[in-house]
Amino acid sequence: MPKPLRLNIMYADTGGGHRATSQAVIDGLKARYGDGVEPVLFDGLRTYAPWPVSHLDDMYPWMSGMSKTWGDGWTTLNDPDVARRFMRGWWPYVRDAAIKMMQEPCDAVVNVQPLYTYPALWAMDHIGIRRPFVTMVSDLIVVHALWCDPSTDAFLVPTELSHARAIQNRIPPEKIKVVGLPIRLSFAIPPKPKPVVRQQLGLADKPTIILMGGGQGLGGVFEIAEAIGRSGLDVQLIVVAGRNKKLKEQLDSARWPIELRPYGFTPDIPDLMNAADVLITKAGPTTICEAFTRNLPIIISGYIPSQEDQNADYVIQNRAGVLAEQPELIVETLRQWLGDPALLAELSRNSGALARPRSAIDAAEEIYRIATTRPTTYRVHRREPLLARLDRFFGT
Ligand code: UDP
Repeated sequence: MPKPLRLNIMYADTGGGHRATSQAVIDGLKARYGDGVEPVLFDGLRTYAPWPVSHLDDMYPWMSGMSKTWGDGWTTLNDPDVARRFMRGWWPYVRDAAIKMMQEPCDAVVNVQPLYTYPALWAMDHIGIRRPFVTMVSDLIVVHALWCDPSTDAFLVPTELSHARAIQNRIPPEKIKVVGLPIRLSFAIPPKPKPVVRQQLGLADKPTIILMGGGQGLGGVFEIAEAIGRSGLDVQLIVVAGRNKKLKEQLDSARWPIELRPYGFTPDIPDLMNAADVLITKAGPTTICEAFTRNLPIIISGYIPSQEDQNADYVIQNRAGVLAEQPELIVETLRQWLGDPALLAELSRNSGALARPRSAIDAAEEIYRIATTRPTTYRVHRREPLLARLDRFFGT
């Protein structure tokens, strides 16, 4: 039997989205090619990066919560020349880590974290081994310039809008392919009827709301839950706190006059979404795409500035939901939607129209194509010539 194709998938736990996309890509590869592939997941930060970069995942909730400062920094870097210069500044510090990461044997690399793109491609240059390299963008609309080293072999994006952004950031058009944002394959299975799922979860068959804040449980989740809990609305509420332990504790000790189901980090999002009529969430790209497959109308309760606001616009412009940031406004929106079944049904249809449940398979096929058609090339290892080093440092 031929050896399986080994595919190294590089991600980091900054938010839940990169891990969710990576896991979905793995599901897609295994479902499509079975034993013909061996996907291996690498947390590049935790495994290789020097301190404190190795702990960026711990700092991410705090940093992204610094609203304006985070948004300004993110916007400043979102320019191909600035992004390249910025990474060049980091290169001496992260070079050894990037080299170790790219020395891991494999037939192709799939990159699911924007911070790795430049260092990974430079590291391959440095060690003289050029493996097939696929960039899998795990945002919905915005394609940040940090993703965009034009020398990648393939650039997979979720939407036509992100396709246009990739071109603006100088990715050659022939390398770009719209595959959707990979989500778990369990979202490709048509949802069971709500009464059945609710019964399985021990819930009553009545209006059900699911409230989420991404993998880290960000975005004033407790305040929103409390407003719903005390609103007098005749609903039951599922709240997913993700990795936010404090939020989970707060929810566990909450006593409100509604049926409240708090969850910590759970793999059961497909079932929980199945049971719900409405999703309330910050504008995380993966959660939004998952909700589309469940035909869920979405109340966007907040967004990480610059990074996620266009996800909110996408939902609103396609009439799959609204933006409502204050807890009182969220309660008012729920009251209006639940009191108007025709409106709720229309929002639900619009949401379903945006679904791409096969995205993990489509991404897997592109990755496999690149891995099997691009050869790994080698050149004799040599110290990088001084001129090349200067060029990397100062740019052309
Ligand atoms: N998620 C999960 N279990 C949880 C909380 C979140 O599986 O308890 C998943 C969620 O379904 C989605 C991902 O984590 O796939 C969150 O990604 P998103 O892009 O929405 O937000 P991020 O966490 O990256 O900010």
